[in-house]
Amino acid sequence: MPTPVTLIPGDGIGPSIADATVRILDAAGCDISWDRQVAGMAGVARWNDPIPDATLDSIKQTRVALKGPLETPVGEGFRSINVALRKTFDLYANVRPARTIVPGRFENIDITLIRENTEGLYIGVEHYVRIGDDPRAAAESVAIITRQGSERIVRYAFEYALAHDRKKVTLVHKANILKYSQGLFLDVGRMVAREYEGRIQFEERIIDAMAMHLVMRPEQFDVVVTTNLFGDILSDEISGLVGGLGLAPGANIGKNAAIFEAVHGTAPDIAGKNVANPGALVLAACMMLEHIGDVSNATRIRDAFESTIREGMVLTRDLGGTAGTDAFTDAVIAKLA
Ligand code: NAD
Repeated sequence: MPTPVTLIPGDGIGPSIADATVRILDAAGCDISWDRQVAGMAGVARWNDPIPDATLDSIKQTRVALKGPLETPVGEGFRSINVALRKTFDLYANVRPARTIVPGRFENIDITLIRENTEGLYIGVEHYVRIGDDPRAAAESVAIITRQGSERIVRYAFEYALAHDRKKVTLVHKANILKYSQGLFLDVGRMVAREYEGRIQFEERIIDAMAMHLVMRPEQFDVVVTTNLFGDILSDEISGLVGGLGLAPGANIGKNAAIFEAVHGTAPDIAGKNVANPGALVLAACMMLEHIGDVSNATRIRDAFESTIREGMVLTRDLGGTAGTDAFTDAVIAKLA
């Protein structure tokens, strides 16, 4: 029985990198039935809705989606797509693996960042504060950290570490200043860590020191878990250490659904030119294959992809080559054979 997966090709370069990814998975013999749906500008064009109900219904059914980058339409009345997806499916864990493929400034990076995706400063509770005649004399943004939210994300990080044969979890926080919200996250983290003692190492870092350690000696980190805002920033920093967004996959995981995506955007400057690197979406598809239990095809595809890049004969422009999306995809497929 093929596994049903919702495919949202997306906007800009999305359809071209989604086609490339599907071609590679088909060539590997993955047993998937794709349910193609639209969102973003393609959703607006067809249903006047960036996240059409048909797309949400499909994900409710399949519980797994592969998503290309989406353009959120500008203007009132349109919901933010990523926030809506996260809320609808309670996708609390954002997982961003980053690994050295071609040694550059660093030789041996293999970090998975796990970011809490639903709490913290990103809950959208903000307002201006009037003082005297000035209605915008100040502004206040509320950060909510809950015991339950902290526990499930830290536990997710430890379980991820166990499942992926990792050795260490680093919890990143700012509890020295934000004693209540970040303090709660740290307390809960320490409590969960005790359950894994002897199996997974645990360490704590303050966010500012972590930002420095990451650029000085990133090889020392393994699985990193942190709250929403810090995770947002650190995940891009870590992508930069291994060659940028063109190779950065991400997953948004909840109890009832998981959405896998390229981290980069729709790249309007190169859309329709057959030059985009499909790598980030291909690597996201490998995470998806692992999620649905097809570890062997995930490993085969990742190996074919990485050896194509290491050989350096057929590379897209962002990686210093001249190959188009189609030629690069063909080269990866040739390696699968
Ligand atoms: P972007 O990631 O689209 O592009 C930044 C730069 O990286 C551009 O020069 C682009 O050409 C290049 N680039 C990105 N992906 C590439 C690839 N696969 N191969 C080669 N080069 C690549 O960021 P942006 O320009 O800030 O955003 C453009 C649009 O994408 C915006 O509408 C934004 O809202 C949207 N966006 C969507 C998501 C998402 O759906 N997950 C994420 C980020 C941005």
